[in-house]
Amino acid sequence: MDQSLPDSASLSPAPALTPMMAQYFEIKAVNPGYLLFYRMGDFYELFFEDAEIASAALGIVLTKRGKHLGQDIGMCGVPIHAANDYLNKLVKLGHRVAICEQVEDPKEAKKRGAKSVVKRDVVRLITAGTLTEDDHLDARASNFLAALAMVRHGETDFALAWTDVSTGESFTADLAADQLQDELARIDPAELILSEATRLALVERHLFAPAWLPISHIAPAQSFDSEAASATLRDAFPGGAFDPSALSRAARSALGAIVAYISDSQKGVGVALRAPVLGATARSMAIDQATRASLELHQTQRGQQRGSLRNAIDLTVTAPGSRLLSARLAAPLADAVAINERLDAVSVLAGDTMLNGRLRSDLKAVPDLARALTRLALDRGGPRDLAAIGKAVSAALALSSHFARLDDVPTVLARLSATLAAAPAPLASMLALALDDELPLFSRDGGFVRKGYDQTLDDERALASETRAVVAALQARLIEETDVRSLKIRHNGVLGYFVEVPAAHGTKLLEEPHRQSFIHRQTLANAMRFTTTELADLEGRIARAHEAALDIELRIFSSLRSEALGRTDALRELADALAELDVTAALAHLAATRNYARPEIDTSLAFEIKAGRHPVVENMVQAEGHSFVANDADLSGADDIGGGRLWLVTGPNMGGKSTFLRQNALIAILAQMGSFVPAASAHIGVIDRVFSRVGASDDIAHGRSTFMVEMVETSAILNRATRRSLVVLDEIGRGTATFDGLSIAWAAVEALHETTGCRALFATHFHELTSLAKTLSRVSNVTMKVREWEGEVVFLHEVGPGAADRSYGIQVARLAGLPEPVLARARQVLDILEQRSAGTASSSQKASVLDDLPLFAHQPAAKPAGPDPVHAALDAVRPDEMTPKQAIEALYELKKLRDDARRS
Ligand code: ADP
Ligand code: MG
Repeated sequence: MDQSLPDSASLSPAPALTPMMAQYFEIKAVNPGYLLFYRMGDFYELFFEDAEIASAALGIVLTKRGKHLGQDIGMCGVPIHAANDYLNKLVKLGHRVAICEQVEDPKEAKKRGAKSVVKRDVVRLITAGTLTEDDHLDARASNFLAALAMVRHGETDFALAWTDVSTGESFTADLAADQLQDELARIDPAELILSEATRLALVERHLFAPAWLPISHIAPAQSFDSEAASATLRDAFPGGAFDPSALSRAARSALGAIVAYISDSQKGVGVALRAPVLGATARSMAIDQATRASLELHQTQRGQQRGSLRNAIDLTVTAPGSRLLSARLAAPLADAVAINERLDAVSVLAGDTMLNGRLRSDLKAVPDLARALTRLALDRGGPRDLAAIGKAVSAALALSSHFARLDDVPTVLARLSATLAAAPAPLASMLALALDDELPLFSRDGGFVRKGYDQTLDDERALASETRAVVAALQARLIEETDVRSLKIRHNGVLGYFVEVPAAHGTKLLEEPHRQSFIHRQTLANAMRFTTTELADLEGRIARAHEAALDIELRIFSSLRSEALGRTDALRELADALAELDVTAALAHLAATRNYARPEIDTSLAFEIKAGRHPVVENMVQAEGHSFVANDADLSGADDIGGGRLWLVTGPNMGGKSTFLRQNALIAILAQMGSFVPAASAHIGVIDRVFSRVGASDDIAHGRSTFMVEMVETSAILNRATRRSLVVLDEIGRGTATFDGLSIAWAAVEALHETTGCRALFATHFHELTSLAKTLSRVSNVTMKVREWEGEVVFLHEVGPGAADRSYGIQVARLAGLPEPVLARARQVLDILEQRSAGTASSSQKASVLDDLPLFAHQPAAKPAGPDPVHAALDAVRPDEMTPKQAIEALYELKKLRDDARRS
């Protein structure tokens, strides 16, 4: 424990604060909004409200320590060695933590007087968006910090900047207010900073999404100052790597705020960011927030990984590869040339499974270069990070050699292979020579430099281990002298080296003649501890040898670190290339093993899918031992006929409508991210935006009714879709009364056809809509086929031309186990309603239905009186007492009873 720690008495109410409390308050005051982890010895302690919050969040004991202004001071603590886990938990819960360390040796404080307090300072602020340690991060997910800036210049401009502090990647985008929600949904930041003025402006326009609330942090207005940003940015990106004047004022303000925030959180260590990618979103396929959620691209609607598209297609073997795949899925391309370049590369590897297999198996061993490099740059890296760099470089060189066998290398692979081949080999050999095989996490632990690398280091180490032999000899001699066989020389952090004897022998050493040489240090329950002058001497020698060795190791570490950081640009490019190769190889593997086909991508209005499948449902259906039914779709259009086609999809519940709709949207997204697609063939003219909506899903959390949600989203589509878009609407209009819903669905189909001219799929239960196909030239009806068999429906999941005449709701209800009497009654009502609409119901039937609806009489079908004979017979059966023959007879008897019961 900290020697300067006052006992609880000195914390008791006093007119003036104790020096320690004064220090605590001072530090707390300059870090508002942070839980203060106040270092005391081997613990981080939290006080007052912080202690209450942390103890509740972490499930640790809240204790008391003295009083302040007459009130007990709440306190809780976490041990240093376990601090990471606790930090993790707090940050995941949305808390922000300031780490306050002792910044001088307690001995120094002592020199200033017995009561003086050890100097402490906050060395780092830890927030969800500024993490760099592997312990805190999900290896396969990016961790973005985003800043949202607003500049009022007549009209209002917004910009976003975002960065993954752990890899240094950074981006900016200028956006209109109504793009913010979609863009932030795509980036999915862990933390969002904005000024109070920006927040208010957004709230005023109803543009502040509820999802932002838990991740938002209000930063002071001056950190968004666009003038000050120029200077901040020039410092953060030195050497003319990037010119801040290339940014819009709003983007400069956002990026400036990010840099300021990071450098503040790292407390002057630096920021280690890469030059930002400007206008990052302009070139990609737009997928709005609702579409992203409805298509379950990165997670299911319930927030799970399993069942998402990403989960189904991510066959990458490295964490950076997985992050890149995720980023590509979040932002597919909208440029046919670039898409085809990616597809060319995937195609070559998919066609050469031998080569691809080798690449993938070599890639498996590639460490996370980008994150290791950032930690080193922030002076938070250890020997393992250095080793990671060496390993990545050697792996890159080995990988590049595999490409030699290709005759015709597509552009992307040629670029990757050139980058891999240019990896700094001398750096890798230097690191391999210097670093041991087994490495500690921190350089301060020492013992990571390989034997034989540095002569002086080896000499010091020999001395240190030699002294160990000397300790053993000394122990033998002391045993001899005292005649205490169980005497041991031991070591711990508090006492250093000491002599330990069982309590029974302790007194012996306290007496003559031994009390001359043995100095008492400690009495434990069953042992006594001593030191001797000789041992103290030896201790000094050992400590000096260790210290000298550690000094040398740290010097070596720091020079290796500078060597590595001197290659930052090359290494970052290398990290990118390795991730890109992993993604390409993974997509090739996906194509080869799951029977995906290369899509034909051009700038037409084509959308022709042959034998398409749903990438996720296909896996699920197959896992259950069934086969997925592939379906065609053709929405191809042309400008001279007014745009793309619209298919109206009708069919029974559970027939496969939603699956069919989504699979086509997913095929489009996969194709434009540069992946092969689950289909026999696909021809797609580049799509600028995809929209997918499912009707009738309440958004209770946001306080909007089903119908309101539907209408808000339908209007968003009608306002934003272009002729180049793909629109998928699943049962829109269901959330209101039948005629309302039908009319709106009707009008929406007309608008999509007449005004937008996009390619569209529209699933509906309103069979009336199918008559639109007669009047609208590019509308066609298709239906999910079913077969009726012995009164039950069999879903064929097959899309064919035509319109369904019924929904088979009652059959589905039966599959779901609705009670038979309810089903019978429903059938009765349906019959009458259908006859009525056909005009054939007798007036008395109509009347009776109207009388009974909506509180229709629940008449349970007559149940057989008394116990059911089948069950009674079954109860009487004693299988243990039966011969096989008797058993068979009993079975026949049971069947007969059942048949009789049915007939009656
Ligand atoms: P709908 O929207 O018409 O009610 P869904 O698309 O939700 O029907 O499909 C219901 C279920 O049918 C799915 O969960 C899936 O198990 C199965 N299914 C759908 N399409 C297919 C298909 N093409 N091949 C095999 N099974 C399918
Ligand atoms: Mg459906």
